[in-house]
Order: sequence, then C-alpha cells, then structure tokens
Amino acid sequence: MRILVLSAWVSALLAVSACAGGQDAEENRTTPPAESPAQEAERSEESVPEAEEPETEEPEPQPVSQASTDPDSVHVLVNKQNPLDPLDFSPDDLRDVDAPSEFGEAPLREAAAGAYEELHAAAAHDGMDLWATTAYRDFDFQQALYEQRFYEDGAEAADRVSARPGHSEHQTGLAIDVADLEDRECYLRSCFGDSEQGQWLAEHADEFGFIIRYPEGAEEITGFQYEPWHLRYVGEETARDVADRGVTLEEYWDQPPAPDYDEEYQPSS
Ligand SMILES: [Zn+2]
Repeated sequence: MRILVLSAWVSALLAVSACAGGQDAEENRTTPPAESPAQEAERSEESVPEAEEPETEEPEPQPVSQASTDPDSVHVLVNKQNPLDPLDFSPDDLRDVDAPSEFGEAPLREAAAGAYEELHAAAAHDGMDLWATTAYRDFDFQQALYEQRFYEDGAEAADRVSARPGHSEHQTGLAIDVADLEDRECYLRSCFGDSEQGQWLAEHADEFGFIIRYPEGAEEITGFQYEPWHLRYVGEETARDVADRGVTLEEYWDQPPAPDYDEEYQPSS
C-alpha cells in the first residue's frame, strides 16, 4: 500500500507539479534567474518592512506563541534555515484523517488530524468538495521526491520546487496538501487559490488552527512560492493571529527570512 501510494503520488507529481514545496511547473520555467546573495538580502529587507508605528501609545501586541525547535511541538519552525532535529524525525501520534483522501491515506498528528476533520466537515457543509492529497511524509519519502527533482533538473531548480528531506513541513505530521480533484488544471498549482475551495480555505482555515503556510509573494521569506493548497497546523490561537496580521510564520515569530539553504545538497547515493 505504501509503495502504491508513493508511486501514484510521484506520478501525479511529475505530471503536474510538486509540493512542499511544490508548485506550478509552468510557472517555474518563467521564474527569473536566482539573485546574488547580496541582492537577495537587499530584497528581503525591502520585503520585510518594519512594523508600522502604532498611532497610540499602546504597547505592540506580542505573538501568542513562539517558534520552537522541538519537533514534537505544534509550533516547530521548519524551513530552509531550520531543519528538523533529528533530521529523520518521525512523530509518534500519527493517524489517518477521517476525511476523503486521494491516495486512501493521509496521516497527520492527532491534534492536526482532528482539526482537519472539523475543517473538512465545515467546508463540506458550505458545499466545498475538498480532498486530502498527501499529509505526513517521512524522511525517505521526501528524499525520494527531492532527489528525483535533483537528478532531473539540478540542485537549483529542485530547491525551488521541493523541500530537502529533514526540511519539509510534511515530515512534522502537521502539514496537509488539499485539492479539488474535479479540477485537475489547478491541482497543486497556484490557480487553486482562485478556486472556491482555495478562497474558502484562505477565509476559514485559521478557524481550525491551520494557516496557508506559503502565501503569495513571500518566497524570499518562506523559501517557497505561493502554495494555496498547503495547510500547516499551528493551533487555533496562533493561526487566527497569523491570519489577522497577514504575515508569514517567519515574520510572526520574528525569525529571519529563509530563502535558501546554507549548504549544497549531498545526494544519498
Ligand atoms: Zn505541501
């Protein structure tokens, strides 16, 4: 079953897109050349403006949570600058979500699974047809996905579309990709954000503790292009606050932008 799921998913991925990061293959071809580190730093500074000075004397509100390096925390920060520790971390409270999934299984950690089921029920109540594609992906799965890209397209291109093993939010058991299977055109592509489901998620995901982890125009901060289908569980209070402020998780937790890795990738074989 596991291998079937992997091979079916890899096929789907190669057909249209990749995820976590994953993205629109066509858009990827039009991605401008990488900037020099100096340019990136300059742009990052421009794209992370200082918070506006409040009009009143009231103290600036503090985030309701802080970034964690504990892989068991729902507030663990995972990005290109913050790998999981250990790299091959696997959560011990995974279970399949009780909701429709493309490949017949979509494991999440207990808290995230329950929250996703509530989100799915609310979406269905509002007439949204929503399917889970993949949720938890272990180190080996992510390594296979990443290295497929790595060998086909080279390191630079692979890093734009796929997270290295140990650096994927999917390995935390707190992230899930969703899709409208009736709309293959926008399957794991940015146009999903314009769909009814994508709009619904942008408006309501935070009510269930999920954020749109890779918002539009934030690649220099998150390291990944817009992924309106990638939901990350952070808990309801944090999710609502992140959504209210309209910021990335890096900004919310006052962490530096993570546009790229520090090291070159060393293939497993
Ligand atoms: Zn994803």
